[in-house]
Amino acid sequence: MAQWTYVPSRSPPAKIQRRVTQWLKATHSIVAPDRPVVTFTFDDFPKSALNGADIVETHGGRAGFYACTSLMAQRSPVMGEMFDPSTLAELSARGHEIGAHTHSHLDCAKARLDQVERDIGENLVALTEAGVTDNVSAFAYPFGETTYAAKRWVSDVFVTGRGILPGVNIGEADRSQLRAVELGSSAASRRRARAMLKNAIETKGWVIFFTHDVSNSPSPYGAPKELVEELASRAVEAGAVLAAPTLGSVLCGVMD
Ligand SMILES: [Zn+2]
Repeated sequence: MAQWTYVPSRSPPAKIQRRVTQWLKATHSIVAPDRPVVTFTFDDFPKSALNGADIVETHGGRAGFYACTSLMAQRSPVMGEMFDPSTLAELSARGHEIGAHTHSHLDCAKARLDQVERDIGENLVALTEAGVTDNVSAFAYPFGETTYAAKRWVSDVFVTGRGILPGVNIGEADRSQLRAVELGSSAASRRRARAMLKNAIETKGWVIFFTHDVSNSPSPYGAPKELVEELASRAVEAGAVLAAPTLGSVLCGVMD
């Protein structure tokens, strides 16, 4: 099934375009929290991301879950069972944030703006029909792919748009393409996540982590439970707040 196997272009022009798009800020926001802010986010999302919710809650925080509604109640050959309406209800009741992620897992860099708008609209309608009553104010781009025009539109509709280009959000930032750090199983991924957390704590910035499934034996797209546990506990020990995306943006003063 194409929806599980699509990979965005890795051609040199596409790579250059990606850099230009990140550089062209659709919003000029300032990230300046009083304390470091750490946000854990889960994309698509598999039911095992509930393990991530459990861990973040144990440390007194809440997380963000970006729901791609065409995957609702499906089974991914790699990530396992995907969320369903009861997963959304449980997470909302526990105070976590449900975000949008397009309906079809659209590559927003390849689609026309009207297609992006319609796909995200369909996503929001499907979330409402699945019982989500909270205002959906967080969005994450599938594959992290976007355009300047899509970022402008996302900045009008959502408080935050999350990308996947790594980095800590601090000082001047684009709230319609926030940087985020992937959590995975490899030694390199663990090292990078620890370094980014350290950087966020030292600079009093906002680090957003993202992954998909969470378990003791995650898929290549997922994170081990013990890594989420380690990062959450280190963050709290260092005085950081574990906040879901919209609260994170409020704590950072990025709402404009
Ligand atoms: Zn995704």
